[in-house]
Amino acid sequence: MKNRIFLEIFDRLYKFFGPQGWWPAETPFEVCVGAILTQNASWKNVERAIKNLKEINLLTPEALYNLSEKELSELIKPSGFYNLKAKRLKNFIHFLFENYGGSLEKMKEEEPETLRKKLLEIKGLGPETVDSILLYALDKPFFVVDAYTYRILSRHGLCPEETSYEELQSLFHENLDKDTDLFKEYHALLVACGKNFCKKREPLCKDCPLSYLR
Ligand code: SF4
Repeated sequence: MKNRIFLEIFDRLYKFFGPQGWWPAETPFEVCVGAILTQNASWKNVERAIKNLKEINLLTPEALYNLSEKELSELIKPSGFYNLKAKRLKNFIHFLFENYGGSLEKMKEEEPETLRKKLLEIKGLGPETVDSILLYALDKPFFVVDAYTYRILSRHGLCPEETSYEELQSLFHENLDKDTDLFKEYHALLVACGKNFCKKREPLCKDCPLSYLR
């Protein structure tokens, strides 16, 4: 049986914050690039890196495939760890071309669990990045888990202190309908709650929409 509290959390956050409009991108490919660049970076800096690529029409799989890793790393400098991220982006682009001829549409046709396994084999792509790509770029129902998710759930006794990414993710998969729109909005709302109220050191429970959650 589903635990109703997972829907209640969503309802309360949605009522408080409203729709978050995630993922802020013009194309599914831009989502993929953003998901890789946002590792250890603020979204503002990711936006600057994406703008650099967009301004000279490089935000397509073909253009990035043909761009050297060195040129790419220069352009994405604002996102930090740019040499590493250029490598990761290149790894993803090569995977896309080797397996799906550079087409995200073709990649989308792959069986979801198989695709997830394959994406996780790309060097430098962890589960949060992979699930962000699957959910926000390809509309596959995989819940995206991050530090905010863990913090909020653990503070409400909904997950053990020691838990893995997969365990946290399966809590959402087991207790919610597998609805991509719901998953997209829910993750974004947890981030909003984490940033505004559920702070690492001093959570602002008094004013938080999740206070007195039972
Ligand atoms: S700030 Fe307090 S009430 Fe809000 S999610 Fe965190 S622990 Fe819960």
